[in-house]
This record gives sequence, C-alpha cells and structure tokens, in this order.
Amino acid sequence: MSSLGRALSRSRLSQPDAFQVQKSLTQPPDDEVSVLVLYTGGTIGMVEDKTGALVPAPPGYLIQYLRTIPFLHDEEYTPPPPTDCCVLPLSKEKKRVVYRIKEYNPLLDSSNMSPADWEKIAKDIETNYEQYTGFVVLHGTDTMAYTSSALSFMCENLGKPVIVTGSQLPIYQLRTDGRDNLLVALLLAGQFNIPEVGLYFYQKLYRGNRVTKVDCASFNAFTSPNLPPLADVEIDIKINKDIIWWPSKTEKFSVDTQLNCNVGVLRLFPGITDETVENFLQCPIMAGVILETFGSGNAPDRQSLMDIISQASARGVIMINCTQCLRGSVTSAYATGQALAKAGVIAGFDMTPEAALSKLAYVLAKNLSLEEKKQMMQCSLRGELTDDSKKPKLCDSRFIQVIAKSLSINCDEELAAVRDALTPTLVCVAAKNGDIEALDALKEMGSDLITADYDGRTPLHVAACEGDVKVVEYLLSKGASVYARDCFGETPLHNAVHCRHKDVVKLLRKTGAHFSPSEMVDAKTKLHSLVASGDSEGLEIWQLAGVDQKPTDVNGEFIKFTACPRS
Ligand code: ASP
Repeated sequence: MSSLGRALSRSRLSQPDAFQVQKSLTQPPDDEVSVLVLYTGGTIGMVEDKTGALVPAPPGYLIQYLRTIPFLHDEEYTPPPPTDCCVLPLSKEKKRVVYRIKEYNPLLDSSNMSPADWEKIAKDIETNYEQYTGFVVLHGTDTMAYTSSALSFMCENLGKPVIVTGSQLPIYQLRTDGRDNLLVALLLAGQFNIPEVGLYFYQKLYRGNRVTKVDCASFNAFTSPNLPPLADVEIDIKINKDIIWWPSKTEKFSVDTQLNCNVGVLRLFPGITDETVENFLQCPIMAGVILETFGSGNAPDRQSLMDIISQASARGVIMINCTQCLRGSVTSAYATGQALAKAGVIAGFDMTPEAALSKLAYVLAKNLSLEEKKQMMQCSLRGELTDDSKKPKLCDSRFIQVIAKSLSINCDEELAAVRDALTPTLVCVAAKNGDIEALDALKEMGSDLITADYDGRTPLHVAACEGDVKVVEYLLSKGASVYARDCFGETPLHNAVHCRHKDVVKLLRKTGAHFSPSEMVDAKTKLHSLVASGDSEGLEIWQLAGVDQKPTDVNGEFIKFTACPRS
C-alpha cells in the first residue's frame, strides 16, 4: 500500500489535550480582527480648493467622515472601539473588522511620492506587524503601481495581507469608487490569508508587482497584464489560491528598505541615436537601467549601438530587457533580441517596468556580487515574473487520472472540484501521519497544503499537535501560514504550546508566529497558574512561545519560581 493509501486508512487527527486556552474578559471576541490603515494621500481623500483643483483634505477629515457612513462604521457595536478606530458591521464571513487609521503628515498626491515614502510605509508595517491581522495602504493611483511593487520587495517573508488601494473620485462625492474600494480592501486585509502585497481596485485584487495603471478616466484603472487576479470580488469573494505566492521559508517577517536609486528607464524608439543611448548609459552614477524594447525584446542590432551597450555592461551597469508591449514576455525568438543578450542585457521576462525598476533598486542595494545580483534579477523573488516550468499540471497527476477515470471526468473544472473536495482531509491525515511522501504527492496534484478541514484546522495545526518538526518544517516551506486560526480561534502556536512540543514552538516562533496583544495579557494569568502548580516545563514552553512577562504577585513583585514536581 502506498504511503498515501496508508494515510487514508488511519484515524483522523487528534485534538489538543486539556491545556485549552481559557478565554477571558480581556480578550476581544473571536470574530474580531484588526486592520491598520496607513493613509498616505491620493484622490480618495481629496477635496476641491478655491480654484477647483483637487488637494488633500485637512487632517482628521477622512476619519470624521468615515464615522458617519454606517457600512464603514457601526456605531452600535459594543464595546466601543478607541476613538481613533472604526469598526465595520458584521461581515458575511461573520467577522468584525476593527480598523485604525494612521494619517500621514503631509498627505500627498502620489506624484510627489519618492522612495523615502515607500520606506516609511514599509517601516510602519514592520513596527505594527504583530498588533494587526492585516494592513491597508491608502494611496494615490498615479504612482500606486510603483509603490505596491516596491513594497512587495521591501517586505521579506511577509505572512499577512498588505492591500494597497485608492480611488479615481474622492470618497466624499456622491458617485465614487472610494467607498467600495476601501470597504473591500478592509475585508480582504482582515479576513483572508493572502500573504502578499496586493493592489485592490474595481472588484479585483491584483499582485502588487504585476499591475500597471492603464486608464485615468475609468474606475477600472489598473490591469495585471500577465497574471490573473489574486481575487475576484463579485457576489462572492473568490480567492484564486493557485496563484497566491505562498511563503517558503522558516524566517520571520522583516523589511529591507535599502534601495539604490541610481536606476533609470530608457524607452527605445525607431531612430534613437547612439548618442542618446550613450549619454544615458554613461551617466557616472548609473548602476542599473531598464531598457524598454520592441515586441518580444528586440532593438536595432547595429554594431555601433551594441558596442555602447557592451561597454556599459563591462562597466558593471546592470541592464534589464523589458518589452514595451503591455502583455507578453521577452524571449530570444529574434536575432535582434539575441544581439542585446550578447551585449550583456538580461531578460526581464514579463515584468512590468514598475516592478523591474523597483526590483533593480532593491537588488542593487544588496551586499552581493554583480553576478549574484544578475541572478536575482532573473528569478522570481515575489512572483513578479512568470516561470512556467514550476507550475504543476493537474492532469499530469496519476492519482487524479485514476479518480477522473473512475468518475468519467474529463474537464479541468471538474477535476479541480474533485481535488478541492478531497484534499483538505487527505493533507490533514498525511500531516498527522508524518507522511511527507504523501504530502508531496498531494502537492504535485496541485493541492495547496494550506487548506483547512471542516474545523478550520490546517495541516500545520495537525503537525503542531503531533509535535512533528520535520512535517512542520516541510509545510512551512510550502506556504503554510503560522497565522491560520481554526474555528476555536487557535493557531498552530497555541496547539504546539498546549501539546508541549518545544521544538515546534521554537520553529514556529522563528517563522514569525506570535500571540495577539490580548492573548499576551491573558498569558500573564496563565503564568501565575503555572507557578502556583509548580509546573516548570509549562512555564518554559510559554516563555519560548514569546510570553515575556515575568509573573508578579499582587504587589507587583516578581515571583521567584522554585521548580517542584508536577502532581
Ligand atoms: N493625482 C492623484 C494621485 O495619484 C490621482 C489619484 O489618486 O487617483 O495622488
């Protein structure tokens, strides 16, 4: 019997033991999630000045306005949130999104934004990362695609949603896309496991480094020409899990805001002279250039021009070949394209110029050799370019072939439906049995290994209960989220703590798992009871889980803990 077959015949997963968390009065209700809104400016919050030009409204105006809109702030909700918070009415997913707005000063038209502003946004996400379920960045549309691209690179090992949005008309106007864009961005950031920098606009959530602004007169302002949306927001919100860029490292979230801004974009045109190209590339500080070429990456292949490009390459200037076409990729189909490659220009595949430029600035600032930087530019760091060779094909799976045959299924949609119905149970059983081979087989048939079962428990919850470090490590490398909560409100970290699996707790912490601020408050009470019962092992495990408060007595004095055996 195969390991998958063995997995199927064994019992279902065990639940955590008796160390269940006692929900206390200090905890917010289970249905509450918190989102931080970083309000940087843009049309969404603009009003007309005396001349009729749109300018950012005065400080505090946006939040005051939002508190008057019933579907953006539920006044009736008790307990009342702090004064700088708003709360959405209960959503279809039975969640309450409580959101706080951090308003930047000054608020900016995004045409005035620079890399220093991207850095500020990234640092704010870093500072507040553990306090919130997700983040929304309110931003002008003009340079939004540059910001969302830059943030996607700056945010390393991101495990929570960061949704950038704005609008074409001010939110205060009768007809506006602002209210809807903000509402959906809040729902996406608070309720869904999308560990990416996304850009939400006009019913679509796009990957932030795949978008470009294509229309300044329509609500449908953005497109993602080479990647379908991460989510389609229609009557239902449909998350396209197969497209999401799942994390693959057991590393904590951090931001790297260092950029080398000595980069530029040169758009070729018929008749461009050698002098123009030479002057552009010879600028002494130029470290990297995006060459916007014709069609699938072609340029005039006259020798004098190729010599100028070769010389720049020899000086260490990194040049990336991106197409001027909206859709499609740079290939080596034509001799004119091959000549550029020979002269040292690297293929940018299907990267947007916005993504290529911000990636180049990010990569150039890394402390790496020139060769390593060139390598980095050619691989997908955050899903910004397409690497077709890595995508598993559902119909290639032998397991799926057998099922399809016995059910007489032959269309892709039906196959996907069968897979989606079967795999949550199969992956949880495989995780319980420590069967990495079966997990691999399931992955090969396109299962995402993050899907929760009917109790909302993911394979990572199961492996954390089992204390199986190898499986936990494997699942984390395949995109499992340390932040997933089951329907009891528990994360894999809770499970590992309750089941007392020290090594799993350490590994989850290393990957960024943490308790929420309110759980931290409760943990202090927990520490008291562990001290009272002389449970040194329990105390150690909670401390490994990041509960750093030392237990204090009624006078606030630290209790000196003396280990004694558990009865
Ligand atoms: N000029 C505005 C900005 O980018 C346009 C907008 O927000 O739609 O800030």
